[in-house]
Formats: sequence, C-alpha cells, structure tokens
Amino acid sequence: MRNIKDISVKELHEYISSLGYEKYRTYQILGWIYKRKVSNFSEMTDIPKSLREKLEEDFELFSLTPVDKIKSVDNTTKLLFGTKDGEIIESVLIPSKDKLTLCISTQIGCRMGCKFCSTGMQGFKRNLKPSEIIDQYLLAAKIEGRSPTNIVIMGMGEPLDNWDNVRLAIKKLIDEKHCAISKRRITLSTVGIIPELKKLVSEFPELPIALSLNTGRSETRKKIMPIEKLHPMNKVLDVLKEKKRTRKILTIEYVLMDGINDSDEEIESLVNLIKVKNIKCKVNLIPFNEWENSPFKKPPEDRILRIQEKIISHGISTFIRKSRGSDILAACGQLRWKYLHDRR
Ligand code: SAH
Ligand code: SF4
Repeated sequence: MRNIKDISVKELHEYISSLGYEKYRTYQILGWIYKRKVSNFSEMTDIPKSLREKLEEDFELFSLTPVDKIKSVDNTTKLLFGTKDGEIIESVLIPSKDKLTLCISTQIGCRMGCKFCSTGMQGFKRNLKPSEIIDQYLLAAKIEGRSPTNIVIMGMGEPLDNWDNVRLAIKKLIDEKHCAISKRRITLSTVGIIPELKKLVSEFPELPIALSLNTGRSETRKKIMPIEKLHPMNKVLDVLKEKKRTRKILTIEYVLMDGINDSDEEIESLVNLIKVKNIKCKVNLIPFNEWENSPFKKPPEDRILRIQEKIISHGISTFIRKSRGSDILAACGQLRWKYLHDRR
C-alpha cells in the first residue's frame, strides 16, 4: 500500500476529485498530516467519514513505527524506527539552548564505503522513501511533544546517492502547506557526488551544505573515502563556489583520526586548499567516534585543541563538534549495528 506522503499534491488532488470531493479537502488533509500530525485518518474530524474510510483503504499514514528511544546522559535522544520490511533506521534528537535539532537518515546502510564509518562498513540495503524520511521528523515531533526546529541530514546514508527521494522529502519539509520548516534550517551533509550536488545547488540554493572533506589532500582522501576517485574534492569544491551559493557559508566536516589526518602537514594542506579555492567556509572538527573493530582512533585532546587553534590562526572559523550522545553510540550507524547484532 502506498504511503500518502509519497504522492504529490497534484496526485492527491486528482484522487480527491475522482471520488467527487472538492479540491479544498486536499489542503485539509495535508493540514491533518503535516501540521496536526495525526496518527489515523479517523482523527481527521472535519473530513467526511466516507472520504476518511476511503483514504484508510487506499493509503497508509506512517511508513515507520517507533521501536526504541534511548536517552543519553547529555540529553541527546536516539530514536530507532522499524520499517515495513523489518529494517531498523535511526534518528538522533539533539536539544540545545534554543534549538531542537533532529539528525535524520536517508538510506539503510550506505554505498560510499568510507573506511572510518560504521554505516559505510555495514554495506548497503536500500534507499529510504520520501515518506520514511519525513516520518522521522513527524514521529520525532510526536515523541518529543514539540517539533524539531532544525534538521541535519547527517544520519545513515549518503543523501545525494538517493537524490530523487531526498529531493521530494526536502520539498515537503520546507513547503508551507506541509511541514513548513525554513530552508535555512535544513543542513545536508554529503561526500559530494557532482551531478546531484549541482542539482541540489540549483534547486535549493539557500539550503546549508556540509561537505565531508576529512583532509585537504586528495591522496589521503582516496585512502579513506573511495568516492574521491570518482568525484575529486577539487571539482566538488568548484561546484560549491557557484554564483547562486556565494553568499552561503559552507561547512567543512573533518573527522579527526589519529595518525591519518591530524599532522601539521595535513592541517596546512586543508588551510591551503581553502585559501586557494577562496571559499567561504567554517570548519567542523569531529573527533573520531570509536566503534567496535574500527582500525582508527581519535587523536589526544590537546592535539585536537592545537589543530583548532592552528586553523583559527588563518582566520577560518573552526569548531570542535562535541561528540554528543557517544555513550549511546550516537555516531553514524553505530546503534543500528549494535541493535541488529544483539538481536542475532
Ligand atoms: N553520508 C553523508 C552524511 C552521513 S555521515 C556524509 O558522509 O557526509 C555524517 C558525518 O558523520 C560525516 O561527516 C562523516 O564523516 C561522519 N562520521 C562517520 N563516521 C564517523 C565516526 N566514526 N566518528 C565521527 N564521525 C563520523
Ligand atoms: Fe556513507 Fe557518510 Fe558513512 Fe561515508 S561517512 S560511508 S558517505 S554515511
């Protein structure tokens, strides 16, 4: 059965009209789904009962079912959802002073195979449908009792490798008649797949982008991120410099790994690359979050601080991302792995 969030407004209009109802019913239904976030069609009390019953017969309302909710000591909450085909996906809620950020997944597993990433090392199962991406937001809002103010597309999967579905989900997340989240509050994190990156930049020029660079050297990147061979960072950065985006600041994500990308030479290469490209950006240093059997380690605390100072000394804003929720394995794909592992 199709999820009602996987069809366009036009299709919903046509469906409603074909049943002999007026078009404004479409907008009432959208309001119930996306604004009031009802769990059943029967709760749509201003919709005629006959239409509610027809909707119930023809569509499902949620693609995901909440499975588990794990609160970390630092207030981060990990949400696990079950899909109709028995898979598990994860989202993370991160509260801060005046924000509630939700980190959402776009695929089950990932095809990119980054060596340091637990999701990447677990392989690829399938793409998430638009409804499964949107449901993470709607269900998180229901579970938390308030809607997330910000979304980061930074969970499991590479969003640009599932562009058609991610695009439809973003459209509904930002549309006034749907979730109505400001497009400046949705950040997409990617390794940079050039054709889809171009589409993203041209269709959503204001959407903040985070690029998982992890080094300033192509040679180092090839060793840890296979994507570098097909879509080299040099060309990826050129796409991000396009006119339409020039007023937007790019976030460069840099997962710090001991002995891999934390030497002075490595950091100098990063600074040089940013200068040569003359790109407006800020750097997000992410201390590597260790997972079982991973060959990498995070650098010592004092080195991480030195790296931050060094980059800042070149006039580039640099932040260390607190590894929040690491006590519940909040990093990319790690909890799903543990969940599936323990179930076996
Ligand atoms: N596929 C996208 C989005 C999901 S990964 C991307 O790669 O950007 C989100 C972020 O988690 C990326 O910046 C990635 O480099 C980082 N990451 C992956 N595994 C990690 C780990 N073990 N510790 C810290 N960060 C990690
Ligand atoms: Fe995929 Fe991102 Fe993990 Fe790389 S870091 S394997 S792109 S989820």
